[in-house]
Amino acid sequence: MKLKFLIDKKYLLAHALWRNATPFPEWDDFKNYLWQESILGYQFLAGSPEALLQINKTSELIKEGDKLYKKALKRKEFKKLLAETEKYRQWLEKEWNKNEKKILGWVEELGGLKIPNKTITVFVTHPKFRNGTTLIEKYVILWGHPDDWKNYSLVYLTHELLHLLTKKCKKLFIMHALIELLADNEIRIRLNGGGAYFKEGKHSVGHPYLAKLEKKILPKWKEFIKNRKGKDLFDFEKKIKG
Ligand SMILES: [Zn+2]
Repeated sequence: MKLKFLIDKKYLLAHALWRNATPFPEWDDFKNYLWQESILGYQFLAGSPEALLQINKTSELIKEGDKLYKKALKRKEFKKLLAETEKYRQWLEKEWNKNEKKILGWVEELGGLKIPNKTITVFVTHPKFRNGTTLIEKYVILWGHPDDWKNYSLVYLTHELLHLLTKKCKKLFIMHALIELLADNEIRIRLNGGGAYFKEGKHSVGHPYLAKLEKKILPKWKEFIKNRKGKDLFDFEKKIKG
């Protein structure tokens, strides 16, 4: 398996406009410029639902968005966003490559999951816009996030990767809790050479809506990773349900 770290410029721009953050001071002027050039194009790129009230056909929207995207490419503010993202992309790729063998080893050893012979694309966005999600059907990860704590990016790339490796499990709620126990907690602690479940310094770890379930199954989970007896994450998921 290989992770390929790429930047899709149009997605980089659209994601940045969609999220409400300022990566550097000139960014607000850039947004004002785009808005003045085409409100409709801006709304399309930024994913604003109001765009739907201003068109007859979706194709108009795409065309207007494309026109504005081409203008944006020429602006120095976009070039700065791209350069900063490229620097971050290189750092992320290096970090992953340095730790990949160790991480995938734990995924196999602790979760019993087979690592497929696949290339997974990671579309990298600017870290200030705090991105982290997966397009499961496409084997694509979308990522760009500051390291809120040590090895944050590695832990959450592993988390997103686990969504892909467990995609055949249709009941996401329990599996999502297992993904957090494995990546956000066990693998985090191993990567960092110490730490506790559910807390990293002053930060809580994981989605709050999964915390209750995770704490309930924690004793069984610890037992499972210590001695799986040939069982994998899917078997464990079924056991929790039953
Ligand atoms: Zn998740």
